[in-house]
This record gives sequence, C-alpha cells and structure tokens, in this order.
Amino acid sequence: MNQQRHNLKLLEAQSHNSMLETLFGSNWEAYAAKVYTHEVFFDFQEEVKFLVNACSVCGYTPPDLVTNFEVSIVEDANKRKRYAVEYNRRTMYVCCACKLFERKGILCNHIIWICSGKFKEIPEKYIMRRWSKNALRNPV
Ligand SMILES: [Zn+2]
Repeated sequence: MNQQRHNLKLLEAQSHNSMLETLFGSNWEAYAAKVYTHEVFFDFQEEVKFLVNACSVCGYTPPDLVTNFEVSIVEDANKRKRYAVEYNRRTMYVCCACKLFERKGILCNHIIWICSGKFKEIPEKYIMRRWSKNALRNPV
C-alpha cells in the first residue's frame, strides 16, 4: 500500500511538473494537457489523432433540443464505420454508440468531432475526476 501511494505521488508530481506536447493545435487538446494526467492525456491525444485523420459527419437530424449525428471514421483497412452520436443542447449531454466514455472515461473521437466546435473547453462533466491531475489533491 505504501509503495502504491509512493507511485501515485510520483505520477502526480510528473503530471504537474512537466509540459505535454500538443500535436494538433486544437483547444481541446491544449485543455486536456492541462487537466489530464500524462497517461490519460496520451490516450486522449490518440482519439484526437483519429479525428484529424479520418473523421467526418455524414448525417444529422435537424438541430433541435436533441440532435442525432452520424459520424463516419476510417478504421481498419480503409473501411469506414459509422457511429450515432446524440447531443442534447440544454443539458450538454452527449453519448456515442461506441461507448468509449462509458468504458474508459475518455471521450471518443466521434464526440470530440461533434462537440469541440460547440464548446471552447472539454465540459467539466466529461473530465473524470480519477483521470485529472488534481485527483489526489482533493480527496473525496
Ligand atoms: Zn464514439
């Protein structure tokens, strides 16, 4: 247990004391570098990389309180796969059929594609406390 605490403190110190390199110049990537631990930032950056290379919106319902988007992305062997993304304008609730956020607590490239143009920064409710740099500083 002491070793585990020591390792966590080392990881926290690394996350606070060094700058992460952003590669794609997006506001969300820069914000992720500020709030996420290093390890989670690199996972987030992988999602941004997908987005930059191969993501596009191929359909959406007329803008309303809830808008459903269909996002297309090139995956294995240049095959395109489509994902449904639901976005609620009032609650800022967003959900993707790939369920990456529900599984890992990191927004998928499909949601980033839809929401990064709507919000300057990643909405706080989509930054899992356990993945933030301040997780150890502010105990529950
Ligand atoms: Zn997704």
